[in-house]
Amino acid sequence: MHEGPIKQGKICAVIAEHTLDAVRAALAVAPESGADIVELRLDYLRDFDFRNPSTLIPLLEDKRLPIITTCRAIEEGGYQHIDDSVRMNLLVEAARGPADYCDIEASHYPAAAALSPDLSKLIVSYHDFSSTPSDMGPIYDRLSNLPSAVFKIVTTASSIQDTLPIFALLRRAKLDGKSLIAIAMGQPGAITRILGPALGGWLTYGTLPEHGGSAPGQFTCEQLARSFRINSLSEGTAIAGVIGNPVGHSISPDIHNAALGAMKINAVYVPIEVTNLEDFFARFVMIATREVDWPWLGLSVTIPHKLAVMPLLNGMDGTARVVGAVNTITIKEGRLWGHNTDVQGAIEPLETLCHLKGQGVAVIGAGGAARAVLYGLAKKGAKAAIYARNLQKAHGLCKDFEAPACPIDELSASNATIIINTTPVGMQGHSEDRSPIPMGAMSGRKIAYDLVYNPLETRFLKEAREAGCKTMGGLEMLLTQAALQFELWTGRKPPLDVMRQAALSKLSKARCRP
Ligand code: NAP
Repeated sequence: MHEGPIKQGKICAVIAEHTLDAVRAALAVAPESGADIVELRLDYLRDFDFRNPSTLIPLLEDKRLPIITTCRAIEEGGYQHIDDSVRMNLLVEAARGPADYCDIEASHYPAAAALSPDLSKLIVSYHDFSSTPSDMGPIYDRLSNLPSAVFKIVTTASSIQDTLPIFALLRRAKLDGKSLIAIAMGQPGAITRILGPALGGWLTYGTLPEHGGSAPGQFTCEQLARSFRINSLSEGTAIAGVIGNPVGHSISPDIHNAALGAMKINAVYVPIEVTNLEDFFARFVMIATREVDWPWLGLSVTIPHKLAVMPLLNGMDGTARVVGAVNTITIKEGRLWGHNTDVQGAIEPLETLCHLKGQGVAVIGAGGAARAVLYGLAKKGAKAAIYARNLQKAHGLCKDFEAPACPIDELSASNATIIINTTPVGMQGHSEDRSPIPMGAMSGRKIAYDLVYNPLETRFLKEAREAGCKTMGGLEMLLTQAALQFELWTGRKPPLDVMRQAALSKLSKARCRP
């Protein structure tokens, strides 16, 4: 049984179940999920007597965590219509009885106030399901003037810039000594769910995977607690992240956070969905113009920004310049430096299988990854050739590295001992059941290397294994380039095994999901 008040900066598991039995099951697993408090969405229940608040007593008598009850109106995201007077009475009575808090909408505050609620248990909330107003001062003023324990402002972010008013509100509430929950929904708003509590937010919400849906930008309680380590973040925590679009499926946060946690470094790595790069740097990063004063550790850069980011940087290392792509940014005294860890990330794992000097290598594909691989192979003295479906593109790439460019269907005739897939063919959700080349083209090769890491064994690798090749998947590249980024940011080598374990765990969960 829970006792005592909850502390700030905690993880709230949202339970949105249709039956009381399912709610009981969710309440039972919530403490082990990493949650510190639970929000019970009563409006989802189908077998509940909303007119009889005492029905909650047996449901909550064995609770192991503090409980917030809420019962949303349809227009505020509620699941079903329940009379407003019934809802208000239920919530006010719940907080008089077994619930620790009740959450009511600001628009229904007068009706709730008429029932003389326990104000020390009242959360007053405001939702905007379509946007984030740039000036939320009036909303803040209105809500913070309604007597309550906590107030909550939830908006919808359509870009990373929409999180700035949310962070401004958190700063203001901290100065005012007010308890505020402020979150922006949607994938661009995801960072508000991670950083909110560290910047003064009263709590953040997480899901229980088996109990209630998940929406873009949401995390499970377990991710919030164990990967992002919400409860140990503070205003002084350094921030790293991956900028790209999309970033929702990136496993880089899992990999980097596992290493940061294992090394007890006060930093967190977050997914940052960026569409307008220049504006992002101006408003979040550059000291002269930024609107947040976060201590940046560094940034990873992914599709589609690896090239576009280059003119916005103060400088680049030689590898990034030759490859023409930046996948890592270090930030020193507000100046941005570009690096490329993909080259070493791709080549180092391959060198654990063989010496590359003088080896014939067939590289399939002529995109950004092929360019990094080709440069890395050239530096090691391998004899690489590009095999691509777009010969013009292949020629453009090969002229910089004095390598031959060949049509992909001529690969069978190549006598390369190493074959590397740098196309996305075989990737989960893209073309999982396909290989970029026919199985016959594998014969005579010694090593097959696929840069795709999800699935761990692609069709390309499976066929290569059956043809007698040594094989390696893209996870090793992903880990090696991430470890190099980590070292650039922290000056320390991360534990690769911890990173690998985090990646494998995330990939196995991703595969289980429909
Ligand atoms: P990219 O710039 O879009 O290049 C993809 C290349 O694949 C292009 O040359 C494209 O040809 C070719 N291609 C696509 N579909 C093909 C098909 N059906 N048959 C033949 N060629 C095909 O992408 P990228 O940045 O190089 O990344 C490619 C893949 O590498 C990614 O999908 C990812 O799986 C992997 N990767 C892994 C890591 C890692 O850390 N493990 C890092 C980077 C990349 P066209 O130009 O004709 O379209």
